[in-house]
Parts: sequence; structure tokens; C-alpha cells
Amino acid sequence: MTVNTFDPKQTTTMDTPRKVMEQQAKATDTAAAKSEASAEGNARIGFVSLGCPKNLVDSERILTQLRTEGYDVVPTYDDADLVIVNTCGFIDSAVQESLDTIGEALAENGKVIVTGCLGAKENDITEIHPNVLGVTGPHAYEEVLNQVHQHLEKPKHNPFVDLIPDHGVKLTPKHFAYLKISEGCDHRCTFCIIPSMRGDLDSRAVGSVLSEAKRLKEAGVKELLVISQDTSAYGADVKHKMDFADGMPVKTSMQALCEQLAKLGIWVRLHYVYPYPHVDKIIPLMAEGKILPYLDIPFQHANKRILKLMKRPGSAERVIERIKKWREICPELVIRSTFIVGFPGETEEEFEELLAFLREAQLDRVGCFKYSPVEGATANEFPDHVPEEVMEDRLQRFMAVQAEISAAKLQARIGQEYLVLIDEVNSEGAVGRSYMDAPEVDGKVYLTDEFDVEPGDMVWAQIIHADEHDVWGVKVED
Ligand code: SF4
Repeated sequence: MTVNTFDPKQTTTMDTPRKVMEQQAKATDTAAAKSEASAEGNARIGFVSLGCPKNLVDSERILTQLRTEGYDVVPTYDDADLVIVNTCGFIDSAVQESLDTIGEALAENGKVIVTGCLGAKENDITEIHPNVLGVTGPHAYEEVLNQVHQHLEKPKHNPFVDLIPDHGVKLTPKHFAYLKISEGCDHRCTFCIIPSMRGDLDSRAVGSVLSEAKRLKEAGVKELLVISQDTSAYGADVKHKMDFADGMPVKTSMQALCEQLAKLGIWVRLHYVYPYPHVDKIIPLMAEGKILPYLDIPFQHANKRILKLMKRPGSAERVIERIKKWREICPELVIRSTFIVGFPGETEEEFEELLAFLREAQLDRVGCFKYSPVEGATANEFPDHVPEEVMEDRLQRFMAVQAEISAAKLQARIGQEYLVLIDEVNSEGAVGRSYMDAPEVDGKVYLTDEFDVEPGDMVWAQIIHADEHDVWGVKVED
């Protein structure tokens, strides 16, 4: 599973297709167990989900519907009557992985339906794999279900056994969930092809988002990760129109959404926030402890010329000013960001400007990627591509600067106490995260030899040790 939409490296899955397939089946275990007795003869489906969390949310919705209709979800190609592959098509390696996975599913099973981002380029798939049963693009839930119905008989519904949890089938652990608030993106960053694959911004109705959030909380979710291609643009496509949640009018905007989510009393973490000025309005909510003081803002670069070439907003000076202002209002604020080094035409001076920005901005969590020439990205046409060895050198230098910053920041946390959400308990103790750490991309809090907790528990811990990425702590009483 992966977590970012436009960070080239992070769009590659870390799990092998087989492993992912087993996870999907495991996630439906409750429902499967309940329907086992009646499932004899039910059509069985294998599911492989590749790519970013937004794709994962699509997979959850398709699986929810399949389970609702009574299909069984199985963990191996052999057991499946048909396999669905939800693809990623962001960078070349993700495309290749998707094509390889489709090939594997065809060889192992033979009946394959393809959906997801790569599905938007149907010919690219059918040229290589002409035998797939059907191809659809991203978030095409209904079409996928229709294709399944064409090839596998719809199970007879039995309301007494075909139960799924209220919140649907979740592929993340029970205690956190991704909440997708919109599809598509109105920006045209020159290194990105997401808008051509996923279309323009299409915001979900705020009432529907909030009722999903409420259901997730009722199902035991302790942390909601708000995701989209551009969270700060939420509602701009519908002119921030009023909708209703629990009979009350709510504006379709990031601020109103955050205010409502804050009422749930669980962790709310914002991802993929574009640095618009109106983000300022969210900071007081963080200072008041209503949503997590954590902002994931992909700045991508600091040099004005490169940002312009990237078609990204802002300048380093303005960003530094805003970060300072935000930290005055909310000193606990943790900022995560991602950057691209080696963008076509990036000079040594421009790269050094980025390093200087990094030193001044003192960001908490940072990811960095070498420019990846995604097929179809406008920036590929730009002159003066940076040689691979120069990109690699810049990446290493960038990471070295950030490692120092990060280590110093985490050292300063030693002695302080934080609320920790436990993700797992293994043979060495418990592993969790504080408000500073988003799952999969940030650091962890290790509670060595702590076995008296369970995943989903929230406990206070004092930090006793830190490196440049993770911290170690001991549980303390509330
Ligand atoms: S904001 Fe830019 S990088 Fe992000 S999805 Fe939109 S076009 Fe791509």
C-alpha cells in the first residue's frame, strides 16, 4: 500500500500482488466468516489493489459492494473465479508493476477485470493483454460491478447471512481510515499526469463525507486521514455550496469540513493541502486541539523559477513567512512536505536555494524524490534534463540536510509526553504513532517491552530516545 499521489517514488507498491491480495481477503474476514455456511456456490473474487491511498479507498468501495452482493473475496488466484486488478498508472515503474500484475493474474487465473488509474489508458493495457475481460478507469465502481455481473452470476441475497460491517470493508487496520473528500484536480503541475487520468476536481457532497466519517468513528476508527488530490480546494468546483449533515446546513469547504470533523472527537489529519492563503483559517482549529496540528503540504521546490516551471504557487519567502505565522498561532504544528530534486533545468544555484529554504523552514517531516519523467507529463518536453548522477547527488545532499534537522527536532522531544495511537504489538513491544506521525510515511513511536496494550489503544508515553526518524518512549499514566 502507498500513501501519496504525486510523489513519484511513493506510488510504487511495497507489497507484492499476492500479499496485497491476501490482505484484501483478510479485510473481509468478518463478513466471510459470517457467510461461510451459506457461501457454498457463491462466486469468488480475488482482488489486487496497487497504488496510493485514494486507490485503496476505491478498492474498499468496490469490495464493500461485492460483499454486500454476497460475493466471496478469496486470497489466492486458484480459489478465485475471477480477479480484479485495481491499477496505478502514475510513473513508469507503477505502470510496469500494474501490467506485470495483470499478466500474473491472467497466467494464474485467466479471468481478469482491470480498473484504476492505468485503466484510463485502455489501449495501453489491451495491446499487451488483449484477453482481459474489461477495463475501466479510476473510481468506476458501478462499471466494475457491471463487468463482474456479466462474467459471474450474482449471488442470491440472503439478508440473514450476507452481513458486512456498517462501515463497509476496510483495508486499513480497524483504528484508522482514509476519508476521500474529492476526486481529480484543477491544477496542472507540469510533472504530474493525475488530472489527465482522474479529471478535474469533483468534490463529494459534504453531507456524505460527514456521514461516512461518523460511521467510521462508530465502527471504531480513532484516526481519520483526509485525502484528495488537493484538500484545500475542496468544494471550489461546486462554489462551496451548502449541503446538509444531520439536518444542519454545512458549507462544502475545507474549513467547514474540518469544523464538523472536529466534533467527532477523534484524530483528524489533513493530507495533500495545497499552500493557498485560506489554509491560514485551519491553523486556529489546530491550536484549539480540534484537529491534529499536522499539515501535509507538498511544497515541491523553493526556487521561484522552478516553481513557475512546475506551475506551483508561492515563493520561498512567502512560504517561510506563513510557516512562521502558523507556528506563532500553533507552536505544536508539525509540517510534512515533499520535494522534487533534478527538475528539468534545475541549476546548482537553484538546488542550493532549496537547501537554504530547508534549513530556514525547519520542516518536521520531509520526503524527497528525483524528477521522474512520467509519460505524458509536460515537463518532459522542457530542456536541460538533469543527469541521473547529478540528481542522485542532490537527493543525497538534500536528505543529509533534512536528517540533521529532523534529528535535532526529535531530540528536542525527549522528556516530553505524547498521546500515542498503538498500531501493532510485536515480540519486542508496542509500536504506535503520535500526532506527529502519519501512517506509512512518517516515523514511529516504539514502546519497547510494552505488551499491556492493543492496536487501537491510545496511551500516553514519555519520549526517552530519538534518532532522525523515530522515537522511543515508555508508557506513563494519564
Ligand atoms: S496539485 Fe499538481 S501534483 Fe497534485 S494532483 Fe494536482 S496536478 Fe498533480
